[in-house]
Amino acid sequence: MKTGAQYRESLRDGRRLFLDGRKVTDLEAEPLLAAGVAEVAAGYDRHHRPEPDAVGPWFTFPTSPEDLRTQLHELLTWDMTTVTTAQGLQALLTAAARMRADHPEYAARVEAYYEWCKREDVRGVQAITDAKGHRKLSPSQQDDPDLYTRIVERRPDGIVIRGAKLHITAAATSHELVVMPTKRMKPGEEDWAVACAVPANAPGVTIINTTYAPRGAATGEDERYWPHSSHHNMPEGFIVFDDVFVPNERVFLAGETAHSATFAHALGLWERLGGTAHLAEIGDILAGFAQLIAEANGLERVSHVREKISEMIMYATLVRAGLEAAISTAEKSPEGWMFPSELYTNAAKHFGAAEFSRMVRHLHDIGGGAILTAPGPGDLDSAETGDYVRKYMRTMDGVDAEYRMRLFHAIRDYTADTFGGWQHVTMLQSGGGLYAQRMVSAKHYDMAAAKRMALRIAGLEP
Ligand SMILES: Cc1cc2nc3c(=O)[nH]c(=O)nc-3n(C[C@H](O)[C@H](O)[C@H](O)COP(=O)(O)OP(=O)(O)OC[C@H]3O[C@@H](n4cnc5c(N)ncnc54)[C@H](O)[C@@H]3O)c2cc1C
Repeated sequence: MKTGAQYRESLRDGRRLFLDGRKVTDLEAEPLLAAGVAEVAAGYDRHHRPEPDAVGPWFTFPTSPEDLRTQLHELLTWDMTTVTTAQGLQALLTAAARMRADHPEYAARVEAYYEWCKREDVRGVQAITDAKGHRKLSPSQQDDPDLYTRIVERRPDGIVIRGAKLHITAAATSHELVVMPTKRMKPGEEDWAVACAVPANAPGVTIINTTYAPRGAATGEDERYWPHSSHHNMPEGFIVFDDVFVPNERVFLAGETAHSATFAHALGLWERLGGTAHLAEIGDILAGFAQLIAEANGLERVSHVREKISEMIMYATLVRAGLEAAISTAEKSPEGWMFPSELYTNAAKHFGAAEFSRMVRHLHDIGGGAILTAPGPGDLDSAETGDYVRKYMRTMDGVDAEYRMRLFHAIRDYTADTFGGWQHVTMLQSGGGLYAQRMVSAKHYDMAAAKRMALRIAGLEP
C-alpha cells in the first residue's frame, strides 16, 4: 500500500491541469486544490499497512449483507477520491461479469486491470457523463461527433479516443480515468461504444477543474468561517481526450453496442447506493443543526419549529430505512458478490434527493437570517467590534455569541454558501438524476402484483 507521501509524489507525473484558466503545475501549491490532496493523502496514511499483500478495504467486493453494511459505513469516512475509486471499480467488475459470456477477453482485461489497481494502490475516477450536445439527438446525429467520446482510430495495438467527460469528481487527484459510455448506443454507433482506462497524465488528456473549496479560506481568511468545506473539498474535472492512445490491454469495450449500457447500469447501482448512505448521514446532520439552532434561539418548544424538526426526523429515518432495506434484501451474484436491491436503492435515493431541498428549507426557516449575516470570526476577535458582537449575538445564559455564531457559520457553509450550493445540485444530479432513478425503480417494481391486489379489491380478480 502507498503512504500519503508516496501518493503526493505520484501526482507529480506531468498531468495537464487547469483552474480558472491558469495552468496548475503543482497541485499542492494551489490553495484551492491542496486540501483535496491533503485529505486523500491522510486517508492513505490512516489505512497504510506495510505487509506486501495488504490492500485497502475499497478493493474488496462485499460477499454478505454484513460486508455490504460495513463497507457503506466505512465509505462515509473515506475521501471522495477513494469513494469514486471503490464505486468505479465495483462497476467495472460488475460489467465484466455481465459481459463474460459474450466477450471473455474484455472480462479478462477488466480483471487484470482491477488486480493492477489493487497492487499499485491507485485511485481512479468514473468518467461516464459526456458533453452530450443537443440532448434530444443521439451521438451520431450531433453536428459535432466528438460531443460523445468516441474511437477515432483503431490500430493493431490499441485505439485512439477523442471527446470529453464532464463533471468528473476527483479527476485531478486520481491516477486513473475509467472511461465508460454514458448510455446505450444503437447499431451504427459503434465508435461511441467505448470503455477503457487512461492514466491521468496520458498525452492528450487535459483536466479543467472547478471546485467548491472556499475562495476566502484560500486567500488566508479565517477557516472558522468555513468549518466544513475548508477541510473537505475535492475538485470536479472537465476532462478532454484529444486523440488519446489507449493500448489494447486497457480497452474494455470498442464497438460492441449491445454492451454499451452495461457499464452505466452497473455504476448506477453502486453510485446510488453510496449516495443514499451519504443522504442518510446528511439527513441526520440537518436534523441536528435544526435542533441545535432552535435551542440556541430559545425556540425548541414552539409548535411550528417542532413540526419541522419532526419532519426532518422522518426524512432522515426513512432514507436510512430504504438503505437498510436495500442491504438486507441484497442478492448474491454467481461470482459470490452481494448486490443491493435495485428497487430499494433507487427509490431511497430518489426520495432522499427529491426531498432534500425541503429539509434545507426547514433548517433555513428555523435558523433565521443570521445563517447568512452572522459577523465573521474576525469581528469577534476585533478589539473594536468584539464587545458589540458578544453583546448582540448571545441569546441567554449558556448560549454565548461564539457558540451561536459557530453554529450559524457551519449551517451557512454546509447549506447556503459555495459548498451548500454544490451539495444542493449534486443531490439531484449525482447518480444520473431523478428521472433515471424513477425509471429504474419502475422497472424493478412488481406492478403485476400491485394490479392483482387492486383487481381483488374491485372484485375483478380472474
Ligand atoms: C457535482 C457533480 C459530480 C458529478 N460527478 C460525476 C462523476 O464523477 N462521473 C460522471 O460520469 N458524472 C458525474 N456527474 C454527472 C451527473 O451524473 C450528471 O450531471 C447527470 O447525469 C445529469 O447529466 P447532465 O448534467 O449532462 O444534465 P442533462 O443531461 O442536461 O440533464 C438535465 C435534465 O434534462 C433531462 N434530460 C436530458 N436529456 C433528456 C432527453 N433526451 N429527454 C428528456 N429529458 C432529458 C434530464 O432528465 C434532467 O432532468 C456529476 C455531477 C455533479 C453535479
